[in-house]
Amino acid sequence: MDPRKWIDVTPENFNYSLDHFVIPSHYDKDLESILIPHGVIMDRVEKLARLIVNDCKGPLVICCILKGGHQYFADLVNVIKKLTTKDGHSIPLSLEFIRVKSYHNDASSGDVRISLTEEECQEFKGKNILIVEDIIDTGSTMVKLLKRLEQYQPSSIRVTSLLIKKTPKSNGYIPDYVGFAIPDAFVVGYALDYNEYFRDLDHICVISEHGKQAYAQ
Ligand code: 5GP
Repeated sequence: MDPRKWIDVTPENFNYSLDHFVIPSHYDKDLESILIPHGVIMDRVEKLARLIVNDCKGPLVICCILKGGHQYFADLVNVIKKLTTKDGHSIPLSLEFIRVKSYHNDASSGDVRISLTEEECQEFKGKNILIVEDIIDTGSTMVKLLKRLEQYQPSSIRVTSLLIKKTPKSNGYIPDYVGFAIPDAFVVGYALDYNEYFRDLDHICVISEHGKQAYAQ
């Protein structure tokens, strides 16, 4: 088993009821189930940080994909900062932020917009880059972003995504480090949003039909 690969949290194996954990009462009717409790997310983040540091060959530019990736990015960076490589060295880190948008309600618009200036791209030349994403669904956002960044000749690019969705719409792209494989459902929480709602929910949950309708645009 490669620990860089995901933990499979399909509904057959994992089915936490909403009553088993604390959720904000304003989301009472808006969630179907809890897929990954916050404590489990944090434990997995710690392990992914360890794996990333073990593979690290020098200073690292860690790129946060906004907005959904910000919580995973913040927690991951916090752990990486405290770790050292196998031979006892700490890793010099710099942080970058890239805004990407492709979703409307719970569906991909197909039109991936990446906010990155030419000047910012030039900064990547010769650097070791780690991209931090919240979720890979079809994979088209990441493939497009990687194509763009590769033009600027970084020394290496690795990708970590907290989640990967098991969907027939996947283009086959798999990141280097993945937290969990999830079913083909729309998930919210731990900074993953639905039209900007649910960013204040700590667990990763499946949204209910009521939630989709309540916050549709
Ligand atoms: P992809 O290009 O891989 O289809 O989609 C990647 C982006 O779609 C993610 O960065 C995320 O913003 C959004 N996305 C895909 N699936 C979900 C989901 O289940 N929940 C939320 N909140 N966002 C999703």
